[in-house]
Amino acid sequence: MKTWLCNASIDSRQYHIGMEEGRIVSVLPSSVSIPAGDSREDAQGMLLLPTFADYHTHLDKSFVGEGWVSRPKLNHIMEMLQVEKELQAGLRTSVLERAGKTLEAIVQGGTSRLRVHVDVDPTVGLKHLEAVVELKERYSNKIHLEIVAFPQQGLMKLDSVRWMKEALRNGAEMVGGVDPAGIDGDMEASLNAVFELSAEFDAAIDLHLHDPDQIGKATILKMIELTEQAGLGGRVAISHAYCLGELSRGEVEEIAGGLVAMDIPIISSVPIDTPMPPIARLTELGVKVHLGTDHPNADSWTPFGSCDMLEKARRLAEKYMWFDDHSMREAYSYIGNPPLLPIIGSPANFMLVQATNAAHALASLPVREKVYYQGVLIAGRMQKEA
Ligand SMILES: [Zn+2]
Repeated sequence: MKTWLCNASIDSRQYHIGMEEGRIVSVLPSSVSIPAGDSREDAQGMLLLPTFADYHTHLDKSFVGEGWVSRPKLNHIMEMLQVEKELQAGLRTSVLERAGKTLEAIVQGGTSRLRVHVDVDPTVGLKHLEAVVELKERYSNKIHLEIVAFPQQGLMKLDSVRWMKEALRNGAEMVGGVDPAGIDGDMEASLNAVFELSAEFDAAIDLHLHDPDQIGKATILKMIELTEQAGLGGRVAISHAYCLGELSRGEVEEIAGGLVAMDIPIISSVPIDTPMPPIARLTELGVKVHLGTDHPNADSWTPFGSCDMLEKARRLAEKYMWFDDHSMREAYSYIGNPPLLPIIGSPANFMLVQATNAAHALASLPVREKVYYQGVLIAGRMQKEA
């Protein structure tokens, strides 16, 4: 027997959405009667949006519940790494507690797919990872969560490779890395270590790359080369890639060709404080681009975190002056799977909000009234009233 969500608004028209075993099996105009006896819930004309994908975040760095944490003024990432350790050491609450509150807020915001980078190094060992693995299990019926082992302090430093291996044996599914040149100081050796870990554990890769300009360019080109050599096309991603915002048009086109050939997506947090990849241009060139919150709450890096992917897409639209309805709808393609219309056979993951249409929701960031995961109401302001 199907379950129906009736009178959900999509593109200013109303539909009945039929669900069975967690998937969408029918989409009918609301003028059509649904079979008597099927269970139903009335969406009361609220707008239906697909749930969001957040391709880059850090649950373990969150300061949620810690009150105000003051940060010193810093200019360089190496200073930042030191200060992050000091600030984290002074926190009163556990990683599990802070990451748990953060994950709950992410689910309430309508994100159903989340890639989480988790710090792994000799100081914290697997402590952060254990907390996130526990949350992954606890939230398995609410969100699809991928865990990246992330050597924030450097992969080649501090004997982190050993800890990365431990992490990959204990719940981490992907290999992370950070600034092979800028932090590790040896781009080729660091990237080789990343790809060796990938080969040993048959794990995909997602690398943080903040290194600028020509250093960043050389790193991306090397990653494309190593991806091809390892036959890892479609299993490697590059986060941030600020350098793409500094390179010439011709250089970006050259790099884009390699990214497309190896199916390497760029993942951006849409920064406003640093150059960022030319997302619209990369899309034109065929490069996949995903967005991530990066800082779902205040953390060591910024007091201005947010776990709302709709807000992230809004920032992207605002930056590129996507003010027409068509462009604003396109912004959703960076935070989930287009199109906005429900697809028969796909998981019944969506939310209901008070907005006229998708463009209106992007502009107004409405409260998520109800969030459904695999056809089950799991979150949202109206969760309890249901
Ligand atoms: Zn990050």
